[in-house]
Amino acid sequence: MRPTARFPEYFEVLAPQHIAEQAWDGEPETLVAGDFDTSGRWAVDNAPPAPFLDDRYSAGVLSDSATSTFVLATSPSDLPGENFAFEPDAKAVELFTPDANRPSMPADAIALYAPWHFYGEQWGIYVNERLLGGFAQALATVTDAPLWQVAPLAHHQVLEHEWVHFAFEIAGTELEDAIGASRYREYSWYAYGQPEPSLTLGPLEEVVASAAEVLFARHGRRGFKNLRPKGYTEAVGRLLDHCPPGYSEWRLMNTHPEEVLRHLVSRIAGRAMRTYRWGVATDDEKDQVPLHWVGDPAVAPFFGAQPKSAGPPTIPRFEKWLRRRAGAEIVEGEGDHRKARLPGAPHPVDYDTGAGFLLRPESKQFASVLALKNIVDLYQHVAEMKSPRATAAAE
Ligand SMILES: [Zn+2]
Repeated sequence: MRPTARFPEYFEVLAPQHIAEQAWDGEPETLVAGDFDTSGRWAVDNAPPAPFLDDRYSAGVLSDSATSTFVLATSPSDLPGENFAFEPDAKAVELFTPDANRPSMPADAIALYAPWHFYGEQWGIYVNERLLGGFAQALATVTDAPLWQVAPLAHHQVLEHEWVHFAFEIAGTELEDAIGASRYREYSWYAYGQPEPSLTLGPLEEVVASAAEVLFARHGRRGFKNLRPKGYTEAVGRLLDHCPPGYSEWRLMNTHPEEVLRHLVSRIAGRAMRTYRWGVATDDEKDQVPLHWVGDPAVAPFFGAQPKSAGPPTIPRFEKWLRRRAGAEIVEGEGDHRKARLPGAPHPVDYDTGAGFLLRPESKQFASVLALKNIVDLYQHVAEMKSPRATAAAE
């Protein structure tokens, strides 16, 4: 048994060079960024895709809903069960229901793994309630099982997918330690989405992540084993078959696991590797990934999630709150930056929108300017859409 790593200290100790922005020295040998064009060919462009950073998916996950941090229920007895009223969003259900005319949306359209390399302290998995509800309903329909039974399974299944992305960030960090150079960012920007024509035209990492969903369906995890309806494994495989390339090729992990992992790790390392025992995180490590719920915290228990506290808000949510509750005027700044002019404040507060969430130093600044106790207090106000002035006046 290997010792359990402690995150995020593990990342910080192993690859300290990435705390400071380090410039990539030298061109990666295979710089192919782009997307599939309408005829299904790979088209090179200057906007590199990355799984968890892909706007087509991440914009949907990071909606303007409230964000709270949560922990997973450990036993089905913690679940509210069949008496809980939850109505899935019909449009979201459609996205995950097989349709011959378009691919279904994959797990990454429901949840986002925000890597430590890009998101710093806001790293973790973000799960969107509305999209998860749609996916759970699609799965319930295919398995002919009640939604309350499938909902916590669907959630866990999506987390299994995202935990694979986490595991490859660990692999990337270990490779950076061995090689002594930045690799994971370069991989995410340039190499993640590049096809490996001998195996798949989709991202190799998605093959592994999608296979983990099937593995979870087959074996379950912890207390949720017995919730699995008959035909669940087949249903998961069938829904994946309708997803885009990479996701739909999960079977490669049954037929060619060594090749898939070897090619994938070679990509992260930026050189040919022969090893393939990578991309696995232990249960204890998975438990350390911060989980963020994007949506109504009251609905989270239906999906086996227990809200802990309000988390850093997404930028759309925060701006909505700033305008409506703090009376702010928002103006464009340089690049990804914007400025908030707050009533009574001598200077506008500048903040970065690039990460999709309000960053920690800026959270502190807003908390201080708005006379809130601390950043947790700020997050709580945003989560509840509560006015900061009401609090200040009451005290
Ligand atoms: Zn993925």
